[in-house]
Amino acid sequence: MAKPILGLDLGGTKIASGLVDLASGNLLGEGVRIRKTFESEKNQDVFDSIVAAIGETLSANGMDISSIGGVGMCVPSPVDPKTGFLYNPPNLRGWGNIPLRDRLREIYDIEVAVDNDANAAAMAESRWGAARGLSRSVFYATVSTGIGTGIIINGAILHGKNGLAGEGGHVPLDGFGHERCGCGNIGCIEALASGTAMVKLAREMLRKNGTHSLLVEMAQGRLEDIDMVMIGEAARRRDAFAQEIVVTQGMRLGLWLGGMVALFDPEMVVIGGGCANLGEPLFQAMRQTMIARTIHPKAQEIPVVPAQLGTASGVMGAASLL
Ligand SMILES: [Zn+2]
Repeated sequence: MAKPILGLDLGGTKIASGLVDLASGNLLGEGVRIRKTFESEKNQDVFDSIVAAIGETLSANGMDISSIGGVGMCVPSPVDPKTGFLYNPPNLRGWGNIPLRDRLREIYDIEVAVDNDANAAAMAESRWGAARGLSRSVFYATVSTGIGTGIIINGAILHGKNGLAGEGGHVPLDGFGHERCGCGNIGCIEALASGTAMVKLAREMLRKNGTHSLLVEMAQGRLEDIDMVMIGEAARRRDAFAQEIVVTQGMRLGLWLGGMVALFDPEMVVIGGGCANLGEPLFQAMRQTMIARTIHPKAQEIPVVPAQLGTASGVMGAASLL
């Protein structure tokens, strides 16, 4: 049996890690292990946390570095997968640019691969998740606080010249509007249809129109307490306003997906992240708008489905990089 790969998913507030058998896609032993990190941590502290997470994962499974085939890491950052060089991660303050792969290889004499987290999750879903056994070309999007995308073409991650391709969340849909995106541009799909954008829209509409909604009750009148989970819950309880918010978000995502399928002609669209939990009302609005607003003549044959691997997709995708 081939040696397992240690997969490591670096987030803004935590490091998830686990050992993955690449042949089966199974997580070994205790599954995914979580180690908290702190926003105040600087580059060296987070790097030390990464090294500690690797050590803990190995010892918890009764292994040492020689028992594994390598370390795969995914990061919430633009990264050059050829060199493992991170470009100023937006959610890891104080990091700057860092040659992560080389730093790790100074410590461990082992193969190390690094890629962007949405790319890794796309790979995991395509090998072992929603698109398992069927798709060579997959458009994957994670819709939660932001929108990240990973594009699999002929079984491989689309990287582009510098490894920086696949930033589908920052395709502007309304570049002359008012919604400023975290990236500095105006009207990116992330600024219009992420979970954050959805919550913002709900709060603004309630504040402006004073609409009657279960959401106001659920938040005990404090509109700033409304979050994505609450909107989902109110929509399930048939609150008309919350349902309208979910459909609006689905239509915006669908319009964007219409462009994405025309561009990439994938076999399947997989949607992960917290917003995928909004379920069928969101997916229905996405599918209908995608089909109605695309030049792709066979868009109705492209399944738009929820991701299956949940929070393990980062660790599994990271391992799949090797
Ligand atoms: Zn943007």
